[in-house]
Parts: sequence; structure tokens; C-alpha cells
Amino acid sequence: MTELPFLEIQARAIELRKVLQRASYEYYVLDAPTMEDTVYDALYRELQTIEAEYPELITADSPTQRVGEKPTTQFFSIQHNISLYSLDNAFAPSDVTTWQERCQRGLSSQIFLDSVCELKIDGSAIALTYENGILVRGATRGDGTSGEDITTNIKTIRSIPLRLNLENPPDRLEIRGEAFLPIAVFEAINQERSQQNEALFANPRNAAAGTLRQLDSRKVDKRRLDFFAYTIHINQADFASQNLPDISSQWQALEFLQTIGFRVNPNKKLCKSIPKLQDYYDYWSTERLKLPYMTDGMVIKINAFSQQEQLGFTQRTPRWAIAWKYPAEEMPTIIEAVTVQVGRTGTLTPVAELRPVLLAGTTVSRATLHNSDRLAELDLHIGDTAIVRKAGEIIPEVVRILPELRPYAATRFVMPTHCPECNQPVRKPENEAATRCINLECPAIVRGAIEHWVSRDAMDINGVGEKLVKQLVTENHITSIADLYDLTSEQLQTLDRLGQKSADKVVAAIAQSKIKPWARVLYGLGIRHVGSVNAQTIADNFLNVELLTNASPEAIASIFGIGEEIAQSIYEWFRKDANQNLVRRLQASGLQFVGESDRAIAINPNIAGKIFVVTGTLPTLKRDEAKDLIKSAGGKVTDSVSKKTNYLVVGEEAGSKLEKAQALGVQCISEEDLLNLIK
Ligand code: NAD
Repeated sequence: MTELPFLEIQARAIELRKVLQRASYEYYVLDAPTMEDTVYDALYRELQTIEAEYPELITADSPTQRVGEKPTTQFFSIQHNISLYSLDNAFAPSDVTTWQERCQRGLSSQIFLDSVCELKIDGSAIALTYENGILVRGATRGDGTSGEDITTNIKTIRSIPLRLNLENPPDRLEIRGEAFLPIAVFEAINQERSQQNEALFANPRNAAAGTLRQLDSRKVDKRRLDFFAYTIHINQADFASQNLPDISSQWQALEFLQTIGFRVNPNKKLCKSIPKLQDYYDYWSTERLKLPYMTDGMVIKINAFSQQEQLGFTQRTPRWAIAWKYPAEEMPTIIEAVTVQVGRTGTLTPVAELRPVLLAGTTVSRATLHNSDRLAELDLHIGDTAIVRKAGEIIPEVVRILPELRPYAATRFVMPTHCPECNQPVRKPENEAATRCINLECPAIVRGAIEHWVSRDAMDINGVGEKLVKQLVTENHITSIADLYDLTSEQLQTLDRLGQKSADKVVAAIAQSKIKPWARVLYGLGIRHVGSVNAQTIADNFLNVELLTNASPEAIASIFGIGEEIAQSIYEWFRKDANQNLVRRLQASGLQFVGESDRAIAINPNIAGKIFVVTGTLPTLKRDEAKDLIKSAGGKVTDSVSKKTNYLVVGEEAGSKLEKAQALGVQCISEEDLLNLIK
């Protein structure tokens, strides 16, 4: 932050405030957020950081200075007797440690302060007032000092007692907790709204808030809101005079709330160290997904009321509590640059280079922008604040841009007209989203083709990785996959960090790939749309490369599971001279362009049609290599031994398969026997 000129920081603070204020209004007043909570939290934190460094930039209306929004509804507005607060957020373990240390300093304590962990229920905070044990008022939190009187609606919530289970209730008791909608109810509501063409609720929290503020309490009643209580405001003198138990901690308060008739979330824990807090957080990070209601984190509260009292409150939050939120799948960050990658088929992919951001537990610094159509849709400028998403294992992507936060001099990014790798003009066909380099000698395309050829599902050539391929192509040792088979150990030894032993190994691994079956060879050629499963299906139907070369697109598409697009792509691939040359050169090097049964009869009658099972650890071959050898010689490999099995190839530590083969009288052979049969 400090490296930016002050005026830019000031402008950023103003824009952040505007964006947050609008989001806050949509969230609290309209119950219809347009922003992910985690995005809101991250932008909020950015504003907090700026304001901490430049206090002169703080304004009274800044979202960092207040709780929620002032309600603007048709309900009566009421003043809370005791303010309702928000919670400070923690996003990383270090935030929690810092918080605990701050509390310890505040109390001049050297030791961990016992803390209660509770789930952070994703609902709406409400305040309940009981007089002489009877519920007299229920209100929303509003801006913390004033909320809306929603007593009639609150009375529809079955888990809120209308009368406390107390023989001698105090004159007045204030209870706080979270009203929420179970996920199943939320989904049913949205389904109904969709059928009636009504706007859908974004999440259960907003649905709960929206429901509480329904004017027709019969509708509220139908929606089956639920409630967990977590705070009780106790006037100790009152309690003593009524002979009520002495409640001096959050833990005791939760237990007491239960005894007087409230639902208290059972998943609470009293922790006595930081690792215990972490255990709770880790455990619930996955378990929470099994709960019938939504949670978005955990709340940690210092247990002893005496300590809470000493620590007190800031303007917005109690100092004695913190919400530790679960990692976000969407976060805002800055696009620092856009680079363009060229894939193995020549497709140009724009990639956003990001200011690193923590997303779903990992630091992300790049995100795909897909293609020029997507760029235009996003109207992406360098310097933009972008929302980035990473869900599950998917590559991070830019979901949208916040144009309000665009710096003054930002420039729009446009796709290059020339390939960034070979500088030849690129092409974008009208009907396609992708921009392509069509120069078959483009180093990126050559590298991509070779990397694909040596990859696991293709030739699986050990020792030839991305780095070596890059060196080989850059130094002009190879310009196509066929050149791999002409490489010598001496040539390889001229490369950086490759000694004789390693070079020999690479040459041997390349030679070994010549026995890989036809289906893998076909996949390795890298024809567009031909994945490893399709390649197997096609190889099973076109038993050699000549048959496939001469097949019409219709004949290829007649195979079950192969669509027209794939068929057309194969057909066109074989029409190109460069590809025909490649096939001829690879054939001359000894690669397999003939399928199993076809070759079997021609090549090896010992193995043709025979059924093999491989078990145990073989002396030199990996089990998959032995299987490939058998298949490429025309044999079949199955996983379990039966009467039909002809040979069991046995390695060390063979188990039940060997016993079964012996019982069935199946012939058991060693790796050496197998190699002899194949010879
Ligand atoms: P908060 O939701 O982060 O935390 C405070 C609230 O937690 C309390 O008011 C209470 O309702 C709730 N809570 C749940 N379980 C609890 C428990 N066991 N103990 C104590 N409290 C518990 O704070 P907030 O002030 O209600 O709202 C701020 C948050 O709202 C932001 O962090 C953001 O995530 C979200 N927000 C989102 C948008 C948006 O556009 N998406 C806009 C404004 C606010």
C-alpha cells in the first residue's frame, strides 16, 4: 500500500467506501446481496488497512465505523437497551494468535485465556426481551443501536419460548441469538419462488432476514425459521435477588440458556490453548458441510465474563470475541498484467497475472481469462480489481471485474495480432471463440506436441519432462516428436546438467516407448478432441493407421461414442501432408500403428488371443509395462484369474491370485518366461 502515491490511496479509499456502502445496503436493507460475503470481507479489510495507516482518511460514514445499516422498513423502529455488535474477523491462524495475544496484553496475562468456540451460524441476529419470564419484544439488530420491532414474526419461531422455564424469573432478561433457515427449507422456498417467477434469495442468511421482515406473519409461520441462542445479558443483582444460579462465564451462560428453554447449538467447546482452537476449526471445516443449516466460520469468545468486561468493546465489535471465517472460493485482487500462453494446438489463452491472494486454502497468482470473447465480456483493464474464483480442483478464473475500482489511467487489454512465441500472425475464425497460431513450426506448438507425446497417458516416457523438452526445442535438437527417436546420448550430453548415465537412460526410455500400443500412439499424436478414451475406442475399431487414414468422417462417426466433431477433426488431421510425413517417420522408427488382434495374428501366435493376468512385483518391468507388452503382442490382460486365464505372470509377493491360479491349474510364468514368449 505504502508504495502508491497518497492521492491514489485516497481515491481507492473513497471508491472502496462507495462499493462497500452499496453492497451493505443491498445486503441489509434489500436482503438481496450482489457480492460474495468473502469479497465484501476482503475489500472491507483493505479499507481497514488503509484507514489504519492513514487515520486522516477515516470518515464518520465509513462502513468500518458502524454496525450494519439503519433499517428502512414498515416496522416500528426501536432503540435497543443494550447495543448489538458485529464481530471482528480472522481469516488465518495468525489473526487468531494476534487476537489472543492482544487480549492477554489487555489483561496483563501471560497465559492463554480460556475461550469458548461456537459455530458461526449464518442467519440473522435478533434481540429478545423477556419481562417477568414472558417474551415481550423481538427485534432485528439493525445498526446495532436501533432495530425493527418484529415481535409478531418472532413468535412464530417454535424454538423461542414465549415463557421462560424459570420459577422466579428476573424482571427483565435480554437474550440474543441467531434466527436461521434450515438449508432444506431455504431450497424449498427458492423453488417455490422460481415457480412463481419471483426473485430468488441469494443464500439462507438473506432468506432468513427477508422472512423476519415479512409483513404477513402467517407467511413467516409457514417458513419454519429456527433459532439458536448464544448471549444472555445478566444483571447480577437481579439474579442474586431471585435466587438464580451464579453465571460468570459464556460456558455457564450457554448451559443456563438451555435449561430455561432455548435451543443452544450443541457443537460448542471450551478450549484452553491455540492448538485446540485450531483443532476445532479444522474439524468443522468439513463437518459443517454435513449440518442441516449454514455456517460460515466459528466464533471464539473469551470465557470469563470478568475478563470480557475488562476488555470491553470498540465502536463496532467486542474485543473479547472474534469470528474465524472459512476460506473463500471467491476473492478480490488486482490484475497486475495479462500474459498470453500458446497451447499445443496453437490456441492463445490470455492469463491474468494477479497480486497473490489466498483462495480456498492456496495462494493464487494467475487465473485464466479463457479467450478474447471473455476478455471483451469482462472489459478487462490492467490494474482492475477482479473477483477470482477457485472452486474445488478447477483452475482459478476471473469471474468479474469491479469497474468502480478501476484506476484512472488503466488501459484495456487487447489480444495480440501476432503469436507471442513465433511472431507470426494469429487467426480467429468467425465461429470460434479461440484465437490460434497456425504456424506448425511455432516453438510453443512443437513443445506442446512433444510434452503431450511423452505424457503419462500417451508414451509415458520417463525422464523427458517440460524442462528437457524446452531445452531440446530451444537449442534446435528437435522440431517434431519424430526427432525424439533420432536423439543420441552424445547429443543429450551437450545439454545443461545431463551426465552420461542420465542421457543413456533418456535414450533407453524413448526406445522403450516403441512398444506402446496403437491406442496410445493415436492419443499421443495430439489430434484435437481425441482424448485417451476416444483414442482407445477408435483404435479398437480401426485396427491400423491405414484403415483410419482412409476412413470417411461418416465411417469414423459411426462408432458408438464418437461424435461428428471428433470424426471431422481426425479426418482433417490425416489430410495434412505434414501429419502424413510424421506418421511415416514414426512408423520407420518402429512405433506401433497397428492394433492388437491385427498385429497379433501377423506378429506373435504365442500370445495372440491368450488371456494373461499379472500379479506381484516383477523384477524389471512395472506392472503396467508388462500389461502393455502383452497387449502390443496381441494378448489380452484381465484383472482376475478364472478358468479362462491362460497365463498368470507372477512376481514377488504374489497373493491370492497365485493361490487361485494354482487351484484352477492355470499356468504360472515369470517375467523372463513372458519376455521369451514375446520374443
Ligand atoms: P458477521 O456476520 O461477520 O458477524 C457478527 C454476527 O455473527 C452476529 O451479529 C451474529 O448475527 C452472528 N453470529 C452467528 N453465530 C454466532 C455466535 N455463535 N456467536 C455470536 N454471533 C454469532 O457480522 P455482521 O456485522 O452481521 O455482518 C458483516 C458481515 O456481513 C460481513 O463480514 C460480510 O460477510 C457480510 N456482508 C456482506 C455483504 C455483501 O454484499 N455480501 C454486505 C455487507 C455485509
